Amino acid sequence: MKTYLSEIFSSVQGEGPYVGERHLFVRFCGCHRDCIFCDTNTERTETVMVEKEAGSGVFEQVPNPLTVEQMMELVRAVDARKNNRRISLTGGAPLLQAHYLRELLPHLCGDDYSIYLETAGDLPHQLKSIIEWIDIVAMDVKLSSVTHEKPTFPAHWQFLQTCRDWEVDVFVKMVLSAETHEGELMEAAQGIKKAGGENTLVVLQPMTRAARTDAVPSPLQLLRWQDKVAKLLPNVRVIPQTHKMMDML
Ligand code: SF4
Repeated sequence: MKTYLSEIFSSVQGEGPYVGERHLFVRFCGCHRDCIFCDTNTERTETVMVEKEAGSGVFEQVPNPLTVEQMMELVRAVDARKNNRRISLTGGAPLLQAHYLRELLPHLCGDDYSIYLETAGDLPHQLKSIIEWIDIVAMDVKLSSVTHEKPTFPAHWQFLQTCRDWEVDVFVKMVLSAETHEGELMEAAQGIKKAGGENTLVVLQPMTRAARTDAVPSPLQLLRWQDKVAKLLPNVRVIPQTHKMMDML
């Protein structure tokens, strides 16, 4: 089996509660969503950009698609110094490649990597098929007032419930923009509480300016929304995309 990747590199995790940890990022091509704030090229690429020396900005181009064995070779080359705490599976939407992941993950786990899955949080069946190998799930709950897409709440609740059933370490990230509809945000908070419990860790991530939108939320909005969400989910934090502040991948 083969898959298309866009990048493999080592950097600090820039988002969420694991911010600052050193991760090896494996970025898959392809996404089923079209969030207006998306900062990633999700198209299939002919080559994988591999940064063997972290932070160098020097990339080797390796032809796509890759077998599991080829992927493992690249992972081992980028992690030659064994200094990455976890493998971050990101995208795009890595869960679109669930069949490939079922073949890859036993190899990564065999090399003793902790697996961190970054996901849009709306493909519960695909999650179920690989969850036994996942250590941490960083799942999005998408607000349609922010993404400018159709609402997908039921899929998010099923996804979060699956994480709970399997007792996987999970947190929820919601990207907020100046256009966030407060009613929708509170409906999301209620859904998260019901599916994940009131101790679910929730990260409110202020949207970073992107090619198609500059509706960045104000400090007043963020603090107001944190107060409101905290009434239902006390463990709510505001954490921006810190890697962008440092000009890191
Ligand atoms: S889910 Fe992520 S990768 Fe896909 S369009 Fe939205 S922001 Fe981009």
